[in-house]
Amino acid sequence: MSEEKETEVTSRWHHLEAGDAIKQLETSDREGLTPDEIERRRAEYGPNRLPPPRTRGPLGRFLAQFNNLLIYVLLGAAFITALLGHWVDTGVILAVVLLNSIIGFVQEGKAEKALQAIRDMLSPHAAVIRGGERMTVEAEALVPGDLVLLESGDKVPADLRLIKVKGLQVQEAMLTGESVPVDKSVEAVSDRADLGDQTSMAFSGTLVTAGQATGVVVETGARTQIGRISTLLSDVESLTTPLLRAMNVFARWLTVAIIGLAGLVFAFGMLVRDYTAVEMFMASVALAVAAIPEGLPAILTVTLAIGVQFMASRNAIIRRLPAVETLGSVSIICSDKTGTLTRNEMTVRSVALAEQDYQITGVGYDPHGGFTVDGKEVDPAGEDLLLEALRAMVLCNDSRLRQKDDQWQVEGDPMEGALLTAGIKAGMDPVFEHKDRPRTDIIPFESEHRFMATLNHDHEGQGMIYVKGAPEQLLEMCRQVRTADGPVALDREVWLERVEALAAKGERVLAVACMPAAEGHRELKFSDVEDGLELIGLFGLIDPPREEAIQAVADCQQAGIRVKMITGDHAGTARAIAGQLGLANGDKVLTGRDLDAMDDETLRRTVPEVDVFARTTPEHKLRLVRALQWHGYVVAMTGDGVNDAPALKQADVGVAMGRNGTETAKEASEMVLADDNFASIAHAVREGRRVYDNLKKAITFLLPINGGESGSIVAAIMLGMALPITPLQVLWVNMVSSVALAMALAFEPAEKNVMNRPPRAPGEAILSLFLIWRILFVSFLFLIGIFGVYLWSVQQGYSVEMARTHAVNALVVMEIFYLLSVRSLQVTSLSFKGLIGTRAVLIAILIVVALQLMFTYAPFMQFFFDSEPVGLKEWGIILAVGVVLFIILELEKGIRHRITKGSGHRAGVAGS
Ligand code: ADP
Ligand code: MG
Repeated sequence: MSEEKETEVTSRWHHLEAGDAIKQLETSDREGLTPDEIERRRAEYGPNRLPPPRTRGPLGRFLAQFNNLLIYVLLGAAFITALLGHWVDTGVILAVVLLNSIIGFVQEGKAEKALQAIRDMLSPHAAVIRGGERMTVEAEALVPGDLVLLESGDKVPADLRLIKVKGLQVQEAMLTGESVPVDKSVEAVSDRADLGDQTSMAFSGTLVTAGQATGVVVETGARTQIGRISTLLSDVESLTTPLLRAMNVFARWLTVAIIGLAGLVFAFGMLVRDYTAVEMFMASVALAVAAIPEGLPAILTVTLAIGVQFMASRNAIIRRLPAVETLGSVSIICSDKTGTLTRNEMTVRSVALAEQDYQITGVGYDPHGGFTVDGKEVDPAGEDLLLEALRAMVLCNDSRLRQKDDQWQVEGDPMEGALLTAGIKAGMDPVFEHKDRPRTDIIPFESEHRFMATLNHDHEGQGMIYVKGAPEQLLEMCRQVRTADGPVALDREVWLERVEALAAKGERVLAVACMPAAEGHRELKFSDVEDGLELIGLFGLIDPPREEAIQAVADCQQAGIRVKMITGDHAGTARAIAGQLGLANGDKVLTGRDLDAMDDETLRRTVPEVDVFARTTPEHKLRLVRALQWHGYVVAMTGDGVNDAPALKQADVGVAMGRNGTETAKEASEMVLADDNFASIAHAVREGRRVYDNLKKAITFLLPINGGESGSIVAAIMLGMALPITPLQVLWVNMVSSVALAMALAFEPAEKNVMNRPPRAPGEAILSLFLIWRILFVSFLFLIGIFGVYLWSVQQGYSVEMARTHAVNALVVMEIFYLLSVRSLQVTSLSFKGLIGTRAVLIAILIVVALQLMFTYAPFMQFFFDSEPVGLKEWGIILAVGVVLFIILELEKGIRHRITKGSGHRAGVAGS
């Protein structure tokens, strides 16, 4: 019984009439809630936020550090040594395991925190009406009773009862599994309707695919429908990428193989050589510890997390981690023009009417400036037609200008803001105009139809339709043009030429038209504006390229990445801007119509060499991405609208606009640009390349050390000698010194040439032949170094303990020099910067040196590790070993450089 009541209570909203819902929520469908009331409700209902997904607590994360094959081996070894009564060994093994886990725990915590901070940057916003004012607030701040405005592309921020609907369609797949968008209306529905049939509601988390609406918030946070579905909430992304997964698999196999090998070595030592079982057991454990690149996965994860964090600080917010890797191999960036390559700070420069051309002075949104004709100032008050054009632009307009600390800012579309500024320059008051002729209905702008229309009525009830939009589109819809003496027939050719003339100057051209509405006409439909409009004139707006975008385009082209501009704007405008940006093939423009005329085959052939696409719609973007990917290019594509989502999904790296982008576009993308700036994409690519390099460096650094250590242990057993490094010492070096040093590589800055080389070929194996060669070569050098120092010491008559201390120190010194060498894989490290390194490298080296001195001289360390104090002369020898290693590595780089120089770099599939 109580259960039935529950469903009745929670699902009644769709069954209530809109007006009753408003009443029940004690709000107003015009003014919204008052600030005091919002405050009160916020206290009562809490933030509109889903409870955070249940993640592992700190204890769980700490324990997870032990969930690792090598740790099991070590714990087993600790157990066995304890059984044997070797308490010191047991203690050291446990201490090192603990230390290693603490390092892992701290690092993972940092990495997760970095990711969480990035998720928080993507918190959604909502447009609301509060206290009669339209404003944008964080979705979290919504309370029941708030009036929310929805438009296509929005993610519904809370459960809403719709009170005003205009062609609203909502995709509710995440709630109902139905991927076809549902038509919504304000009509109440049966109280027994399923979620999918509750057409008077819009549910939190669903996506608006078309139309506009106003709704009143009925439920927030965990009380929303989505809040009740707990399964969706555990959807946290784990910190991994394909490369990292591959390395994890590799590490796991290696571990299994090495444990098998350790078993064989154990058998060999027992059967062939006469080691004791205990000796051999410890030697096998040493081998496992020496050979398994235990720290590698953790280091790769940290490198990735630091990269993601750094990208976010430069306005590129990664939504899907594998994108970090993909970014490094991007070979084509397809970018929007307006706002991404250009500043999106528009100014109306020209107005072209039937018999007169005006120029407008002034900069930005600041409404200081005037009108000139042929260089002579004119008073707009006397120009009726001009005023009519401006009034139409002010009325057919959803934006608002605001003065904030002497700065004029636009709330809404920058282009519309510029139109308002032009109106104010002519002495108009936009607020008054809207009051004088209130809007009855609207057809909002969509890039598909490229115009916006409004129906306004004056107080006598006289209706007027205003339309603004792309000139080609509007000229199709007009028959006549306004002149001072009334309407005359429209000559399309003449007007198209005027459009071309404005566009060739790089101006964005907008046409404006109007038409009286029949009496009683209250609803605006597409069929109303299809035909019979009267053209008033053309407006030319400038939107200069961003300085940093010009530089970034040059950087990308230098890096073998081709930049293509895809815009809804006019071909002439696009060409002019492409020229200013320095696009490779900026002269050749294909329009959406050209693309429509091509079949996929022709498109594929044509598309690589064309860099400017104009008058495109989002569907064209999808075709372009596919055509480029067919050639094997790795494509990054920007987008902002709902309809861009398929292209964003299809692209290898979908890039959504953070400021002007819709939630739908963000959901479909891999990366979000916080500043909508093309330059940030270029930075992200650079960072992607850096991260990949650093992953590679970490691998190249750690594997040969493992190789050298395990090689010297195997060699000693084969030769039937005492081990040059004891198991506990190996444990110390691998799980403390190596990890500390390798961690520094995560912070390594980009090499100088990162953006001077072609993109990495997609699917290129990280362990290239070169790396495999290098790992083998360096392993061998380490083997020689460790063994050499050990044998030399024994020959000099030192005790075995002393010889081992020498060998361990030589190993660590070699690691330090190898770290310096590995910092730059291609070019020599023999420079001031190469040797001094970054702060991270310096800190790591200082820590390791301090630890090593402790290892050598501190009595308790001597007790645990059987180390002995090393003399000054021996330090000289040890250091010399490191220096020799460094010289050999640098010589090898030099020789290889000379060999590969002739054949040039192996290029990716870059088109430039
Ligand atoms: P882009 O952002 O690539 O320049 P859009 O698809 O946004 O292209 O716009 C295409 C064309 O539609 C513009 O060139 C302009 O003529 C017209 N347009 C853009 N925004 C509006 C708007 N708010 N109202 C009317 N027309 C618009
Ligand atoms: Mg646009």
